[in-house]
Parts: sequence; structure tokens; C-alpha cells
Amino acid sequence: MAPFASLVREIVDFPKPGIRFKDISPLLADGPGFAAAISAMAEPWRDARLQAVVGIEARGFILGAPLARELGVGFVPVRKPGKLPGAVIEESYALEYGTDRLQVHRDALPAGARVLLVDDVLATGGTLAAAARLVSRLGLELVGGAVLMELAVLDGRRHWTSSAPLLATLRY
Ligand code: IMP
Repeated sequence: MAPFASLVREIVDFPKPGIRFKDISPLLADGPGFAAAISAMAEPWRDARLQAVVGIEARGFILGAPLARELGVGFVPVRKPGKLPGAVIEESYALEYGTDRLQVHRDALPAGARVLLVDDVLATGGTLAAAARLVSRLGLELVGGAVLMELAVLDGRRHWTSSAPLLATLRY
């Protein structure tokens, strides 16, 4: 594991009993650690000729925006319903109980733009898969997915149907 992995802490029974929540707050609060994490996430994509990072609310913004700057590309937010002011498209995804939705601006990028999808954690994979469907419906070229952490035991990768690589910097 990378040295900054020690700055990710585990909070037991959050948000519900039985869940061991990976909390990146100490990593974000540490300048060198945060910089090292962003560099490590960026490394595989430096020659990928990306046009933008597409980040998922909310921790996908915290990681995705500096990652976009590191790579010298734009940033597109995928948001929870009702937050984006322009015309949107949306996708639903399953939660343990019920469903949730993600939205993106219809005119976020021109069709064919090469994008990297970014979030903090890949757990069951539903969130990243819904965002990938939005990217596909916009006609963008999904070059890959990048998460800081993959909770491998949950096998969220099975929902990643794209042939583009899905890379995790830390695996648990
Ligand atoms: P999934 O849809 O089950 O893969 O869940 C991924 C989403 O839930 C991501 O947007 C994460 O921010 C959040 N998430 C799930 N588990 C954790 C965790 O242990 N720590 C932080 N965020 C998590």
C-alpha cells in the first residue's frame, strides 16, 4: 500500500451498524498526503489524451477537481438531483433500500470528448455504473474509471461493463 494509505481511517458502524466506513478526512487534511494521493491517481492517465474528468458528488468532486488540474483537463460534475441549473439527463441506481439518482448537464461536453470517471470509493459499484451510463448517453468516450479505494470484497467491478480500464489506487 502507498504511504498515504495510513491516512485513511475506518469508522465502525457508520452510517449504519455493521458498516466499516473508510473515511478520507485525515488524508484530505494532510497536505503532502493529499498531494501524493492525487499524483498516484493521476499517474496512469497522464498520456491518455483526456479532455475532462467527470467527478461524482461529493467526494468525487474533492478528488476529481485536483486530479483534473494535475492532468491539465476540464472538470464535469455529476450531481444529486435538483442541484444543476441547466437541462439535465439522469440515471437511477439501486441502494440497499430504494433507489437514488444522478444527473449531469446535457451540454456538459461535446460528443466524443474523452473523459475519465472519478469517485472516492468503489463499493457495490452502483454509483459508478450509473455515472458511466450518463457518460455513454452524452456520447462521450469513456477512457477509464479511477477510484481512490476499492472495497474488493463487494465486487463492485461486476457492474463496470465498459471495456475501458477501472483503476483503484488502494484496494481493501
Ligand atoms: P457503491 O455505489 O456501493 O459503489 O458506493 C459508492 C459510493 O458510496 C461512493 O460515492 C462513495 O462515496 C460512497 N461510499 C461507499 N462506501 C464508502 C466508504 O466506506 N467510505 C466512503 N464512501 C463510501
